[in-house]
Amino acid sequence: MRSPRRARIALTAAIAGALLIASTAAVTSMVSGGAGASDESAAAASLSLAPPTVATLPVPKVEQAPASTDICALPELTAALEAHDDAGVVAAAGGGEAFRSAVASGTAPCIDLADPSRVWAVVNKARAYAPIDYRPLGLVHPEGVRTAEGGSLRTDAAAALTVMVAAARTEAAGEVALESGFRSFEAQQRTYARHVAERGAAADLVSARPGHSEHQSGLAADVVGCAGSCGTFDDFAASSQGQWVAANSWEYGWIVRYVPDGSDVTGYSPEAWHLRYVGPELARAYHEGSWTSLEEFFGLPAAPDYAG
Ligand SMILES: [Zn+2]
Repeated sequence: MRSPRRARIALTAAIAGALLIASTAAVTSMVSGGAGASDESAAAASLSLAPPTVATLPVPKVEQAPASTDICALPELTAALEAHDDAGVVAAAGGGEAFRSAVASGTAPCIDLADPSRVWAVVNKARAYAPIDYRPLGLVHPEGVRTAEGGSLRTDAAAALTVMVAAARTEAAGEVALESGFRSFEAQQRTYARHVAERGAAADLVSARPGHSEHQSGLAADVVGCAGSCGTFDDFAASSQGQWVAANSWEYGWIVRYVPDGSDVTGYSPEAWHLRYVGPELARAYHEGSWTSLEEFFGLPAAPDYAG
């Protein structure tokens, strides 16, 4: 893993440019208003502001952003939003990192992370579907992907899985198959009940309660590796397919949603096989930022457990 922050730096620079006037005023005000400050901070301020170029390039706090940085004021973005063109919305925002940053900093009021029909939807233990039995439109079986009986995904996710599975094969990682895609609210009731019967309260570490599963959105794919016959979920992380997916799935719009470093936030044990479709631009920003949970990616609170 690597953690370049190029995109974030680029965005910061863009915001810095946009806010130059306001922030320069803020810095000036901060410095000139420092009469009562300690000698140390006054010295630090005069040191850091000594070269004239520094004074003209302040790094603003995002909270200071004026209304003009609201990405929802961009006509192209609102048009794409209305057309339900999620990729177009992200592009209009300036790309995945710009979109993420705007949402996380609260300057994107038109972006609803609770809308399960959007690729940026966040569903977790604290965020149920509304309505609780939400069902997506346009579920299909991904072409060219070995699929367990009934395995389907939303159209965009299915197409992305088809491309990813073909790439894994081309790059000699082996066959990746879809074990479980869309699961209805009713199906999740049965799945969760089975886990509770087997594990009791520990079921919540491995299975979502009905109305809280990413699978209900049609945007989650549980995958396994196959060589003739298919392996298990537990085999996947160590398999050539699992390693390829961990390294490359982001290029096809997928993130590995539950990783070891994210368990405290998501409340789930690591699941190398559970992929979540967020679209190529958001997946790229997620990868390049080395994020380990969608909650932190969008600046949401941790959701390790259910409210009640
Ligand atoms: Zn899953």
